[in-house]
Amino acid sequence: MGRYDVLFEPVKIGPVTAPNRFYAVPHATGHGWTQPDAAIALRAMKAEGGWGVVSSQMTEISADSDLASHPMDRIWDDRDGPTHARQVQAVKSHGALAAIELAHGGMRARNFTTGLPIAGPSNLPVLRPEVPLQATAMSLTDIAEFRRAHKAAARRAAEAGFDILYVYAAHDLSLLSHFLSERTNHRNDAYGGGLSNRMRLLREVLEDTLEVAAGRQAVALRFSVAEPGDVFGLRHDGEGREVVEALAELPDLWDVNISGWSQDSATSRFTEEGFQLEFTDFVKQVTNKPVVGVGRFTSPDLMVSLVRQGRLDLIGCARPSIADPFLPQKIKNDQIDQIRECIGCNICVSMDGYGVPIRCTQNPTLGEEWRRGWHPENLPVSAATKNILVVGAGPAGLECTRALLLAGHKVTLADAADTAGGRVTREAALPGLQAWARVRDYRLQMINRHANAELYLSSRLTVADLVEFAADDVVIATGASWRADGVGSTALRPLDPGGRSVITPDHVMDGRTLPDAGSRCVVYDDDHFYMASVVAEKLAGLGLQVTYVTPLANVATWTDFTLEQGRIIERFNALGISIEVNVSLVGGGTFASTLTAKPVSIDYETLVLVGARQPDDTLYTAALAEPRLGKVQRIGDCHAPGTIQGAVLAGHTCARQISGESSDLMPFKRQEIVPGK
Ligand code: ADP
Ligand code: SF4
Repeated sequence: MGRYDVLFEPVKIGPVTAPNRFYAVPHATGHGWTQPDAAIALRAMKAEGGWGVVSSQMTEISADSDLASHPMDRIWDDRDGPTHARQVQAVKSHGALAAIELAHGGMRARNFTTGLPIAGPSNLPVLRPEVPLQATAMSLTDIAEFRRAHKAAARRAAEAGFDILYVYAAHDLSLLSHFLSERTNHRNDAYGGGLSNRMRLLREVLEDTLEVAAGRQAVALRFSVAEPGDVFGLRHDGEGREVVEALAELPDLWDVNISGWSQDSATSRFTEEGFQLEFTDFVKQVTNKPVVGVGRFTSPDLMVSLVRQGRLDLIGCARPSIADPFLPQKIKNDQIDQIRECIGCNICVSMDGYGVPIRCTQNPTLGEEWRRGWHPENLPVSAATKNILVVGAGPAGLECTRALLLAGHKVTLADAADTAGGRVTREAALPGLQAWARVRDYRLQMINRHANAELYLSSRLTVADLVEFAADDVVIATGASWRADGVGSTALRPLDPGGRSVITPDHVMDGRTLPDAGSRCVVYDDDHFYMASVVAEKLAGLGLQVTYVTPLANVATWTDFTLEQGRIIERFNALGISIEVNVSLVGGGTFASTLTAKPVSIDYETLVLVGARQPDDTLYTAALAEPRLGKVQRIGDCHAPGTIQGAVLAGHTCARQISGESSDLMPFKRQEIVPGK
């Protein structure tokens, strides 16, 4: 028996059978009901890549569960049926089972677009404190109406052909969770009070859904067994376990995780692969029904051991299936070294938070399956094979090289550094960012196996080198450097540091001489993503007294979208890093409140500026002026500094354009809006 054969065993889930143990669990794609074709193609790609079950995202069962700025799927009435049927067909055509996550957002709904009242167990504000709305306590009639709507949605889903119908009580994102939780359920009728009462609605909806399924579809319960960090939250050794015990044999499948979403989708900076197992492990001991669980699983050996040890029956993945839709097929074909492992950065998650279609750092084709026809594993072989020189082996240059090789070109990749990877190699040495190196490792692995590739390290190229090389095309991916002049997202003009010693993240990453332990520094965050917080952590670890200062109202603002902000603040507190928000650097090395303009006094010797970056485009500019060179283009941070995801996407896009794809400003299809429907 092969080492991974156990992962390819079929698993019976109630009346249906999954062809293997790879289970792509529900996750948001940001396409929602307005752009269904993109979501359908994305999920079909997972089915093509070998996932035995492919799930839709949260699908609103009725109009009073309108999640507004989060583009969810909808199954409000029969008009939604044909779209879901197309999705089912696309997924099933590859032999996978299709699952649908039926959901009512309860106190998470906003109903901005529908204008309907927000429903919850009690009269309480909605669960986004910044949204000035309240939920109304559902009457018994409202509860009966909700059950009717859930049943109707289940019937529509069954008619659309789904194999697995979900009942959703997870992530604090569902009306059923809100009834379950003591925090949100303050009722004193049959649906409130003790756990058996708070659980009543969940049990009823499960029974309703089983009745609709009538032994034709499986019914899955997605349930968060623990809510770490919430004082009123369920505990896996308390009420969370009691719920599983009470309902043990009712659903056909238990899909278990932890809540809220920031706990469930924790990043690699703060959690290891398999981080949920300590909470979910007990479920298999309580039920005879199959259990699927998640935890950013990318290691086939861990997956096998989880099945063999009876900890999970199905390997649940959201992010690993996003980063590599072909993960199952690669394991099956003994191509383990070609798996594109999720780096746990949560760029995918941040897109949902921002209300736009999903992107992935590792998989630049994600979200482009339908509108650009991109495939994560293949590129059309170019009609004209070219000899291409790529300068810079950071994420942009590496991805461009990998994709050019796939398209059949001959590629030489050169980098001034003695290791490939550019920023991902440098950043991976910072606290918590080790997984960033996977961006490099996957691509190097794919490049090194190619006969048409040549990689030169420790090779800083000049324009004379480019001319001598005589490539058909030159791609410049020389990256960017952190600015030391104070320019950042809020300060668009340089600032005077008043004679203080100034360093940037580049000093820290290059291992240049850093201030002595015990000395005081300010890490000034005018970038607002992860870098300032990571540098602060690094310097605190070296024994410096660190004050983190930001002109914005919260710490590392964008990390709210990657679900990391709370943990960053916790870590600052644990490391003794002081926090000053709404404070800006105003010149002369001094600070002032952005609210009152009054001076804010901070004692420090070293100013660590984490603001904007300057493109390293000297080579590009010089190359443009050289008439003997053919086509020269720049990509990634040397073009416009941004995220690693942006650099990878730029590298991929460039390779496709060199291979003949359109370089129009809008080289993609748009979802057609049918007027009057
Ligand atoms: P990106 O994120 O756009 O991929 P990075 O900063 O990660 O950019 O990578 C840029 C890479 O380019 C670095 O590894 C750097 O060593 C390399 N580089 C910069 N200038 C040159 C040059 N003139 N010749 C060769 N490599 C260069
Ligand atoms: Fe993983 Fe990051 Fe891709 Fe999300 S964006 S799937 S976390 S690599």
